Amino acid sequence: MRLLKSLDESTLEHIGRELHSFATGLYSICRSITGAGNRQTLSAIRERIPLQVFEIPTGTPVFDWTVPKEWNIRDAYIKGENGMRVVDFQKSNLHVMSYSTPVQATMRLADLKPHLFTLPEHPDWIPYRTSYYRDEWGLCLSHRQMQVLEDGDYEVCIDSTLEDGSLTYGECYLPGRSSEEVFFSCHICHPSLANDNLSGLSVATFLAQLLSARNLQYSYRFLFIPGTIGAITWLAQNRDTAARIRHGVVLTCVGDSGGFHYKKSRRGDAVIDRAVAHALRHCGEPSEILEFSPYGYDERQYCSPGFNLPVGCLMRSVWGTFPEYHTSADNLDFIRPEQLAGSLRLCAEIVDVLENDRHYCSRNPYCEPQLGRRNLYRSTGGDAIGVEISARLWVLNLSDGEHSLLDIAERSGMSFSAICDAAELLSENGLLSAIPAAER
Ligand SMILES: [Zn+2]
Repeated sequence: MRLLKSLDESTLEHIGRELHSFATGLYSICRSITGAGNRQTLSAIRERIPLQVFEIPTGTPVFDWTVPKEWNIRDAYIKGENGMRVVDFQKSNLHVMSYSTPVQATMRLADLKPHLFTLPEHPDWIPYRTSYYRDEWGLCLSHRQMQVLEDGDYEVCIDSTLEDGSLTYGECYLPGRSSEEVFFSCHICHPSLANDNLSGLSVATFLAQLLSARNLQYSYRFLFIPGTIGAITWLAQNRDTAARIRHGVVLTCVGDSGGFHYKKSRRGDAVIDRAVAHALRHCGEPSEILEFSPYGYDERQYCSPGFNLPVGCLMRSVWGTFPEYHTSADNLDFIRPEQLAGSLRLCAEIVDVLENDRHYCSRNPYCEPQLGRRNLYRSTGGDAIGVEISARLWVLNLSDGEHSLLDIAERSGMSFSAICDAAELLSENGLLSAIPAAER
């Protein structure tokens, strides 16, 4: 199975536009760590891939945490004395601090202000704020909106409910020949934020779509969950499944114009860390590898010491380092079709490495086999050998049962796909035998 071969330039261009329009369709939904918006988001994902949706009741203990009450919101506003809405949830769901308790009150501006959040350094942007685990309410607005508020009475309404319900997440499982799993996780808990939320879940959805109905070596599990509490809940309820994860990636912030960043797993030397680093070296875009740190996205939970799973985090711009992060400027213009497509392409390359990395033995270990008489060498002596022949020589030389194709790609400096092509050709010509994983 070689996923990358099905993604030529024009296919990717088309997929990029589709990815962006998928994100556009989800943009206005008000998501949080629980609630109707998450179910609606999962329904849209389920139109593209087989998705099982789970509901975990409020109050369920999950390790040191508890599944919280379910939050839903219908409307929110601040009205001036003339009855006009000066802040309106219907215009942007970022105007409400997520998990705000219900409010219906009239108050002086001075009393209202402690509940208002703005970004003076970016006066046109609305900040994104949450208060999941503390009963609070708040409204977010642009600094310019705040500056024109005059003293007086304001009617404040947050028409929300915080009640017993459930935490909702979705899982797409694609069975392969092995029960060992490759795992992709993305969060679905942000409202109208494009890069930090929609880019990851869109690329994950399309990757699952590309992989479905293929003949897979590994089984694949895609998790669409609310950040932190969702990962903790899933891990608490799926300890046996987690033990089958051999390679994993958290996908987030993969739609902006920045170069790639990959944060290594806690182990630091897992095959996934090497596979992503290798794919990045050959992807033709700028990239940087970051060491593991116990902060960031859900790799924090997957890499907690009790699990220590081989799961890293793939991003373009790193969260918190771009000014648009957690503001209304992380919008649909901030993510681009070509960047989304490039991220999907990189994921395909990573999958290709994981699916095809195996050990071979040369059947002619005593000196080189005569490639010329098999039409596997250059036709005219004296010419420099090209990439293809060079890849064949590397594969023949290092196929001693000790080196995997990824080892050979790393040592030769050649792309995994060139090394894999060479190994396939040499096998077809009877020059290599694959070593079954069970015999290693
Ligand atoms: Zn975030």
